[in-house]
Amino acid sequence: MRTVQYVSTRGQAPELGFEDVLLAGLAGDGGLYVPAQWPQRVTADWRALRGRPYAAVAADLLAPFVGTGPLAQALPRLVGDAYDGFGHPAVTPLVQLDHRLWLLELFHGPTLAFKDVALQLLGRLFDDALGRRGERITIVGATSGDTGSAAIEACRDRDAIEIFILFPKGRTSEVQRRQMTTVPSANVHCIAVEGTFDDCQDLVKAMFADAALRRALSLSAVNSINWARIMAQTVYYAAAAVALGGPEQPVAFVVPTGNFGNIYAGYAARCMGLPVERLIVGTNRNDILARFFASGTLATAGVEPTLSPSMDIQISSNFERYLFDLFGRDAGRLADFMQVFRRDGRMEVGPDQMAQARALFGAHRVDDETTLATMARVHARTGQVIDPHTAIGVATAEAALDDGSVSPDVPVIALGCAHPAKFPEAVAKATGVRPTLPTRLADLYDRSERVTTLANDYGVVSRFVHHTVHDRRGAAARDSA
Ligand SMILES: *Cc1c(COP(=O)(O)O)cnc(C)c1O
Repeated sequence: MRTVQYVSTRGQAPELGFEDVLLAGLAGDGGLYVPAQWPQRVTADWRALRGRPYAAVAADLLAPFVGTGPLAQALPRLVGDAYDGFGHPAVTPLVQLDHRLWLLELFHGPTLAFKDVALQLLGRLFDDALGRRGERITIVGATSGDTGSAAIEACRDRDAIEIFILFPKGRTSEVQRRQMTTVPSANVHCIAVEGTFDDCQDLVKAMFADAALRRALSLSAVNSINWARIMAQTVYYAAAAVALGGPEQPVAFVVPTGNFGNIYAGYAARCMGLPVERLIVGTNRNDILARFFASGTLATAGVEPTLSPSMDIQISSNFERYLFDLFGRDAGRLADFMQVFRRDGRMEVGPDQMAQARALFGAHRVDDETTLATMARVHARTGQVIDPHTAIGVATAEAALDDGSVSPDVPVIALGCAHPAKFPEAVAKATGVRPTLPTRLADLYDRSERVTTLANDYGVVSRFVHHTVHDRRGAAARDSA
């Protein structure tokens, strides 16, 4: 088997193997790791995935990315464990909404959003790699909602990991807060910061910039710039495509998009040879990507709150991975582009690149009113209750079916990104139905919470993290003595 090596999009960091890329997250030159070459699968390889269980598809598809060595040997067991805990035996079931429109439900994991699909595997990969190396890490992250709980569920009860999640006190939904604070594991530490999400993010950035703290605690991150998350997400694109007749039958995907991580995984599957005719971005009012695909100019604007908060993002960090390919993998050119974009908040690509991008990608912007109307319409016509993020995908898919941007015989698969019970108010407003939590979470409102409230102050927060890790490691050393 050919083993993939990874290069940085900025071209100044060393080429690494999978395990080092997993543990590094961001490349040392500020770039993102991507495969030096995409592993190629021929028609028979795709066909062989048909009808197989999700975990078997994952083990087969991910093997070349992981390469050889102990982690590769553990991979089938780790994917088996990762997807055992999902609330649906198909892991990511397809539901038909209309004769050409399908919904790929990605929200049957422990925290009810698609991030579980990648993070459940990521936590196990980290644990396996760190255990073998005899290393421990401290994961620090800021969340406005979904990522925090998915990361906590992925890392809970893992000996080699302490995890600290900062969230803005009083500014997450109750479901989102309880999904974080009711996890009883001793290695999980929730911090409610007296400030905004941006304050939380600044505190996390400051911790990473603090070289002494970073070294002392072996700080690490699990945000969507980690290559292993993208890799894990390629699996459901392949599973859905072969279920609808691939590789002979091409398909199109519509992806509610924030950081461009999810849709980039679809692009990665296509780079491996999966017949994907189109990839269509759905955005909310925060439409930087829709404006880019319309105009060729990437230009920031302020972030506005919407009914789909997980997509309220200004700069899509994973877009850099796609631009790298669009620039013919010219790292120097990409680095220049990113520098100007960071300085001016705006940058253009040329007409040739735009033609190339538009040949594969489409984009559509959906406002809150259309989001509510789509939830109501889907419920009335199919009985299916969908969340606001998923509704943006469905509205985008309907627009693409109407304007003929997908060939007439190609099925369109909209990605269902969150369970409706995560956003009960918006769902009830649109459909009159108050969605209930799956039975495994039914007692969420009765579980006791564990959270430390801290001032929005770097000294206070970093001391808390430092002391907590110190105490926990001391306790672990005493236990093993
Ligand atoms: C994270 C998230 C998104 C955005 O996904 P990206 O990979 O950042 O583009 C969309 N919807 C939901 C529900 C999410 O949790």
